[in-house]
Amino acid sequence: MIGLDEAREYVLGRVAALAPEWCDVARAHGCVLAAEVVAREAVPGFANSSMDGYALRASDTDSDGARLQVVDAVHAGDVSSLELAPGQAVRIMTGAPMPAGADCVCMIEEAVLEGDVVRVPRRFAPGDYVRQVGEDTTPGQVLLSPGDQLDAARIAVLAGQGIAQVLVHRRPRVGVLSTGNELVAGQAALAPGQIRDLNRPLLLALLEESGFEPVDLGTARDTREEITAALSGGVRECDAVVSTGGVSVGDVDFVKAVLGELADSEARWMQVAIKPAKPFAFAVVGPRRTPVFGLPGNPVSTKVGFEMFVRPALRALAGQRVLERPSVRAVLDKPLERASDGKVHLVHVTVVVDGERFHVIDVMRRGSHLLNAVAGANALAVVPEGASTNVGDRVRVMILDAQSLGRPS
Ligand code: AMP
Ligand code: MG
Repeated sequence: MIGLDEAREYVLGRVAALAPEWCDVARAHGCVLAAEVVAREAVPGFANSSMDGYALRASDTDSDGARLQVVDAVHAGDVSSLELAPGQAVRIMTGAPMPAGADCVCMIEEAVLEGDVVRVPRRFAPGDYVRQVGEDTTPGQVLLSPGDQLDAARIAVLAGQGIAQVLVHRRPRVGVLSTGNELVAGQAALAPGQIRDLNRPLLLALLEESGFEPVDLGTARDTREEITAALSGGVRECDAVVSTGGVSVGDVDFVKAVLGELADSEARWMQVAIKPAKPFAFAVVGPRRTPVFGLPGNPVSTKVGFEMFVRPALRALAGQRVLERPSVRAVLDKPLERASDGKVHLVHVTVVVDGERFHVIDVMRRGSHLLNAVAGANALAVVPEGASTNVGDRVRVMILDAQSLGRPS
């Protein structure tokens, strides 16, 4: 057996960010930038009012109140053509350009309009309620850097520059293959000895949740030929491939052998000191050095193997700087029993955050074949080799779903 850290280092040492590509901003949400983005336009592009009100000269106002002649009105999208003379004001709406000569705005709620004269009740300073040119962004400013992920606000920042395309690391396309003679896909009736394929829908959904592009490679029977054909096809079509089943020590566990053949020297079969998901095969295949992950077939093992090895490696492929899920120390509200067996136990739990403390309020039933038991868990407790932990102890938990840490309202 090898340690979890060693296995992860082996994998992460063999994956690199996908080559940068130009991508339409409209399709780039979630992608990671591969190059700096420099502002070419000022935002705001012109001085404009931040309020509905009256544009005026601050020097016309005083503490006793001033009476100004309203000579024009300007709405967002319009431009007032006149230049404000002393004693004059222009009615102005939010976002409309400041008329020449005006240097501040009195908001509509403070002003009193009497015919075409407006009473401004107090002293104003130049710049009051004016959004200045370049206040948010100046031309030449570095807006975004390589490694920045394009979230909603950054997409809008790019839109604010009129930028149509950006250089990004593509969202990895990841093939998913289930192996096993016993598998039945979809709703077909089960013959004796057959089971439904859970891992493919599980992995396709996990990939989607994690921001990757899942590609369904279907199922392969337990023959060298079918597995070779399916994996080679996946390697040609995808940036990475995840298969399940066939990596243990059974008579027809051919995945690990096929990976060895496809990858020449860059393949490794490991027995990792974790429970579940001990057997694991990894290879780098073909001219594009496509990573292929062979996870064990029990569904909970597949899920844990995905979290431990696949997800961090795919994030590296996607150009992400942070590869790991966030983890915190949480107080156990339920005991977490374990036997000493030389392995790190990865246990599905439910965590809630209560003020500033994280609590493990439920520990799911364990068994690598018990998928139903872990559905709905929002964290994985990482329980190091050693004795059981008791109520009130703290354990490290990897957060799988931050949204569900809150209590329902
Ligand atoms: P294996 O890793 O191929 O030895 O499979 C281990 C266990 O997981 C066996 O009981 C398989 O029937 C089961 N299994 C393998 N693949 C799947 C799958 N796609 N969906 C559900 N169970 C599976
Ligand atoms: Mg099998």
